[in-house]
Amino acid sequence: MMLLNKSIIIIRRIGARKHLPNSRKGMRKLKRKTLYFTCIIISSLLFLGAEDGTVYVTNSGKRYHREDCRFLSRSKIPVTLEDALYSGYEPCTACNPPARSAGSSAPPDPRKPVRSRELYRANQVNPAKTGDVQISQMLPAEVVGHIDGDTVRVRIRNPPPDINTVETIRMIGVDTPETVHPNRPVEHFGREAGDFTKERLLGKQVYLAFDWDLRDRYGRLLAYIYTGDGLCFNAALIHEGYGYAYSSYVFQFKDEFEALERLAMQAERGLWRGMDRRRDR
Ligand SMILES: [Zn+2]
Repeated sequence: MMLLNKSIIIIRRIGARKHLPNSRKGMRKLKRKTLYFTCIIISSLLFLGAEDGTVYVTNSGKRYHREDCRFLSRSKIPVTLEDALYSGYEPCTACNPPARSAGSSAPPDPRKPVRSRELYRANQVNPAKTGDVQISQMLPAEVVGHIDGDTVRVRIRNPPPDINTVETIRMIGVDTPETVHPNRPVEHFGREAGDFTKERLLGKQVYLAFDWDLRDRYGRLLAYIYTGDGLCFNAALIHEGYGYAYSSYVFQFKDEFEALERLAMQAERGLWRGMDRRRDR
């Protein structure tokens, strides 16, 4: 600012020497213009510093990082800056990530409860496909237990108020053959579906997205499970032929899941092996 004032004074002197009586008005105009552009430059610098609000955390670390930090060589999980701060992560001292998100003047108060509207709800975002959703805005969770093809147990660090630290997740829109029903035998392909889910998800970091209803009548959390590579696991189960599209309830990706089921059926993948011919009879 001092430099700016100095240059204005210098410009004013030169101007005053060159064209004397008219210059005062022009100088005022020039000063206003210079100030205006300086404001633009300063605000764009501030904006660049905050970037797009995505930072990266690791599986085990307590700090969050910029995308290119050397501490991200083992695991790299994108989260919003707000989530990182809320979950108690500290900024990395090596890569100096932004300390707060653009627009908010203070870091979120960890005692302040997160409102449920902050949960990523697919029906509110209205993406056309499961691949169009933003996993960085979802609720991160770790799969700590496996129940069957469409149901897992997860642990959630610093859960929002409507959600517990450990939850049973029933995946939205997919139904895999039963393996654990007390009064029913293991259904065709139930064990394969269970193994597929266990192999792909157990011990992994996942991201949860929700839809209209947060829970089913058994109190299980209803969610879409996304893996770190942005894949919707619910959709993958259907596409690979490990489960059926569960169309008794409305959900955001109903059409998409039914189309995936048709593909799996046509290709006779998984439980559809030899099944569609049996159906047609
Ligand atoms: Zn770092």
